[in-house]
Amino acid sequence: MRIRKNIYPKSLKEVLATGFLWINILLYYYLELFVVIPSFYEKWSPTYNVHCTIVSFMVFSVIANLIATSLIDPSIKGRIQRGKQVLEWKYCEKCEASVPPRSWHCNICKICILRRDHHCYVMSCCVGFDNQKYFLTYLFYQVLTAIYGSYFNIWYIWNSVQPGCMWKAILKIAFPLIGVFYIDWTSYQFHCFVILIIFLVGIMATLLLIFYIRLISKGVTLFENKKLKNKDKYNIAILENVKTVLGDKWYLFWLEPWVDSKLPGDGMNWKRKLSVYD
Ligand SMILES: [Zn+2]
Ligand SMILES: [Zn+2]
Repeated sequence: MRIRKNIYPKSLKEVLATGFLWINILLYYYLELFVVIPSFYEKWSPTYNVHCTIVSFMVFSVIANLIATSLIDPSIKGRIQRGKQVLEWKYCEKCEASVPPRSWHCNICKICILRRDHHCYVMSCCVGFDNQKYFLTYLFYQVLTAIYGSYFNIWYIWNSVQPGCMWKAILKIAFPLIGVFYIDWTSYQFHCFVILIIFLVGIMATLLLIFYIRLISKGVTLFENKKLKNKDKYNIAILENVKTVLGDKWYLFWLEPWVDSKLPGDGMNWKRKLSVYD
């Protein structure tokens, strides 16, 4: 496992995407712990503390997996000799080296990535062989935090609606940005805005997670799914496909990055489906 040295955003797009993600996480934590949950349970009461611990664990897992994804380097750097030709490997002119199957060049990272999945703008790095398990665990907790938070958030908004003001409330909740700029500048309006962002991010993360579960079960990366005609090349069996991404302790993925779940192979040599040839 190698640590990436340049972890900083490489473009304005990455600065904005990374900034948005971190602000979203921090606002979520503040809102749930200090605004929404205290509106149901007295602060520091046993029930409040239980919810506090659950939210803290989930947010901590989101942050830990976010950092692990961007710190761990899935590139060919230090694993492949420049200029060395290997039979059956393709040649990358930009890296000036033979690169293993399933490796693809990233024009943003400027290097080939082992089992490249995609370049993630919010994490300012490529997701590939070594770090995809952290990316998926991050996504899993992003979904979980959104579901957990949205349950309380919806009740929080529902309880705050005054009788007879239903339409105004719906307008303010559905279009909180209009409320922030044109209707009122209260902290409640700002909280409605954050709640809507949390909800929308949650929906996006849920769709992405479902999509990834489908890809992983088929043993294909996002990149291969988009670019290759034969998507079935590395589809061995569901459990093997899952282990390829989450490691031998795949069932403990929810404890990442604190679990040593070894990935099979070296990211360079891949088992293929027996019936499939190039
Ligand atoms: Zn390359
Ligand atoms: Zn990249």
